[in-house]
Amino acid sequence: MVPVPTQSTAIQHRWTIEDSEELYRINGWGEPYFSINAEGHVTVSPQGDRGGSLDLFDLVNALKQRNLGLPMLIRFSDILDDRIQRLNAAFAKAIARYNYKGSYRGVFPVKCNQQRHLVEDLVRFGKPHQFGLEAGSKPELMIALATLNTPGALLICNGYKDREYIEAATLARQLGKTVIIVLEQREEVDLVIEASRKLGLKPIVGVRAKLSTRGIGRWGGSAGDRAKFGLTVPEILRTVQQLAAADMLDCLQLLHYHIGSQISNISVIKDAIREASQIYVELAALGAQMKYLDVGGGLGVDYDGSKTNFYASKNYNMQNYANDIVAEVKEACNERQIPMPTLVSESGRAIASHQSVLIFDVLGTSDVIAEAPEPPTPDDHLLLRNLYETCQSITAENYQEAYHDAAQFKDEAVSMFGFGYLSLTDRARAERTYWACCAKIMQIARQQDYVPDDLEDLEKIMASIYYVNLSVFQSAPDAWAIDQLFPIMPIHRLNEEPTARATLADLTCDSDGKINQFIDLRDVKSVLELHPLRSPEPSTNGSSTTTERDHEPYYLGLFLGGAYQEIMGNLHNLFGDTNAVHITLNPNGYQIEHVVKGDTMKEVLSYVQYDTEALTESIRRQTEQALQDQRITLQDAQLLLKTYENSLSQYTYLAN
Ligand SMILES: *Cc1c(COP(=O)(O)O)cnc(C)c1O
Repeated sequence: MVPVPTQSTAIQHRWTIEDSEELYRINGWGEPYFSINAEGHVTVSPQGDRGGSLDLFDLVNALKQRNLGLPMLIRFSDILDDRIQRLNAAFAKAIARYNYKGSYRGVFPVKCNQQRHLVEDLVRFGKPHQFGLEAGSKPELMIALATLNTPGALLICNGYKDREYIEAATLARQLGKTVIIVLEQREEVDLVIEASRKLGLKPIVGVRAKLSTRGIGRWGGSAGDRAKFGLTVPEILRTVQQLAAADMLDCLQLLHYHIGSQISNISVIKDAIREASQIYVELAALGAQMKYLDVGGGLGVDYDGSKTNFYASKNYNMQNYANDIVAEVKEACNERQIPMPTLVSESGRAIASHQSVLIFDVLGTSDVIAEAPEPPTPDDHLLLRNLYETCQSITAENYQEAYHDAAQFKDEAVSMFGFGYLSLTDRARAERTYWACCAKIMQIARQQDYVPDDLEDLEKIMASIYYVNLSVFQSAPDAWAIDQLFPIMPIHRLNEEPTARATLADLTCDSDGKINQFIDLRDVKSVLELHPLRSPEPSTNGSSTTTERDHEPYYLGLFLGGAYQEIMGNLHNLFGDTNAVHITLNPNGYQIEHVVKGDTMKEVLSYVQYDTEALTESIRRQTEQALQDQRITLQDAQLLLKTYENSLSQYTYLAN
């Protein structure tokens, strides 16, 4: 069943911003940061409930006036700050509520978003909470070691480690940093013992357990006996023995696990912490100087705002998450009279997703032409007459049947054309009549309480295509790679009814470069409600294809994409990094903190080893040859060379 969008056909109902709120579910996924104002624009409240907001549409226009082209990524540093505060407040509240004798000290997993400005902001905002960093690779360790300067904050070292990694981590403790080396592979135990002997220093060590509790869904394989990382229970016991034999059991202070990202179901989180708490108390009982229990990532983001255990959502909030962890650990420790650990979470997605919004514009649209078909004459092919007859007789009683008839006639027309029995003109008429049938049927279907399953595809077939100035591969790679859903909506005209139904097609010439899955209250929807592009003047050529420049700008926003997307984005078709700006709120409005210009063509070409001077030189030589052969005028040759050179220093996206 396809949920039928409300139409203003029956009762004259004026579209309001409340209708847009409901349609795009902005309160569900956007609270407290995103909402809609009376002008029908999306507004951003970067400090959440603490007040202060700005009009996103006005902001985009102001940035465009500063010569920043779309697509652009707008980062709201205050949102990042608010997320950190919220997470810490949730744990503080849980700790108070359960009278937990210990504290919370979170870390940000750098892999979620390694951009320097963002990591620096994070460290700064996290200072009051001793918020630390987690590194999952050697380059991330380099970032974390240099950037994290908060006394008492944890620097957790995960991922594959070689001798160099371990030695750097061990030595950095002498800078006063709380560096913890988490053993994830059996070989790392020996490396840590050797490094400690060689350097004469004792590191703080943790173990990553392979829990038997598995996350479900996309990252379910992050736990379980066959997971890529972590030690099984027998391996943990052997590690304890090895450390004891090396007189280093006092170094073992942390237990870590990670059961996957975006855990949608709180029951999985509870099972995992219950199992991990038992391992923790056992390790303490074995004589390790246990101090920290690190629950990894997994804290989910409600992308569709449905508050369910659907993969794009989660059936719990941050407070539930903190409560369950605190309560379970307390109980396990009390039972065995073990001191309660400092709780650590490595929440990346939940911290970084909300802070950025990707704004992009629509370049043009392609719509199905459903003009009224011309009536056939008695001399016309029987097929055309039948199809026309079908079209004329569509009613609310027979529309389902009519749909199948029309589809069958159309298929017949195509196959008869293939055998040479139908002219090109007649085939065109048949197709036009078919589309007219579909348009009529859809009008009727939308007025019904539900749409029969076999008409589900109709919305998809009839959907417009909105061409957007964006590369899905660069800016929303997870939408392509793992069908991740992000909320997408217009950032203006929200007091107008969006009467178009569309899918989005990006700039790449890859047929996968599209978005045709959108958030919905239940499941996903295959088309997004958008506004028809508005021409400044009525178009005179009657064509159904609206191209750039002959319409008012129409801006869409992709929200909650602040985690993972930027670094996983790739250069498919050589569309580079987008422009990025950092905005902070101040008493007079906002302030542009940093502008990070997107890649130019020169830059992306150099990534694939082209020397742009050599390219230009090649063009110059070719123009000289063409001049000699009198194939080009000097003026055109100069113009070509100038255009070529200019382009190289331009943005890789379309100018707007
Ligand atoms: C990816 C990862 C995280 C972050 O997970 P989120 O679900 O984004 O919070 C934390 N810890 C480890 C070990 C990871 O690999």
